[in-house]
Amino acid sequence: MSFVITPPAVVSVPVVGTTARFPVNRVYCVGRNYEEHAKEMGFTGREPPFFFLKPADAVVVVNAGETGSIPYPSLTKNLHHEIELVVAVGTGGKNIRAADAHKHIYGYAVGLDMTRRDLQGEMKKQGRPWEIGKAYDHSAPIGPITPVAQAGDAANAEIYLQVDGKDRQRSTVSKLIWNIGEIFEHLSAAWELQPGDLIYTGTPEGVAAVVSGNTMVGGVAGLETLTVKVL
Ligand code: MN
Repeated sequence: MSFVITPPAVVSVPVVGTTARFPVNRVYCVGRNYEEHAKEMGFTGREPPFFFLKPADAVVVVNAGETGSIPYPSLTKNLHHEIELVVAVGTGGKNIRAADAHKHIYGYAVGLDMTRRDLQGEMKKQGRPWEIGKAYDHSAPIGPITPVAQAGDAANAEIYLQVDGKDRQRSTVSKLIWNIGEIFEHLSAAWELQPGDLIYTGTPEGVAAVVSGNTMVGGVAGLETLTVKVL
């Protein structure tokens, strides 16, 4: 087959324990999925789950032990960090029941749902789509994926983010409003999940701004740490 232009490269994430990589298909994100974060954003914390997407080429891959980097994005004066547990989908499907979700999970990683908060806020106010605030270039840093069998109890793991060595976010994945099984159930009712999909499961409270020169270190117990510098 020939193409009239050069096809885009497949985005892929390293996997702990193998040189083979995880190819990225879609990137789904869950909105307001920790109660204390929903409250800090001005909501009650009780609402049906909702989702948005980022393009696969917004993913910024950071290798184990390395410091990745993202440019400070255009148009914003309020770039926020959101540390999140990311689920890597190994087997697709639609109408997956919560109790069966574990059969579809390849592994877990630490991710950042970087957000141009001022632009997102303006879109919310106008009832317009969030893409300009959420789905911009370099908006989805991710560390290596750990296969489920080596990942420990991700559903109950501590999750944290530090900026320049100081705690900004610290919670536990067990505080997810919609847990991983329920996320699969709701997502796969709306879209057919595919192998290679990533699901950013939501962020706990403590989201705040970063500026050029800041270094973010984020983790979920049992997974590779994610370190990203803002250029
Ligand atoms: Mn988020």
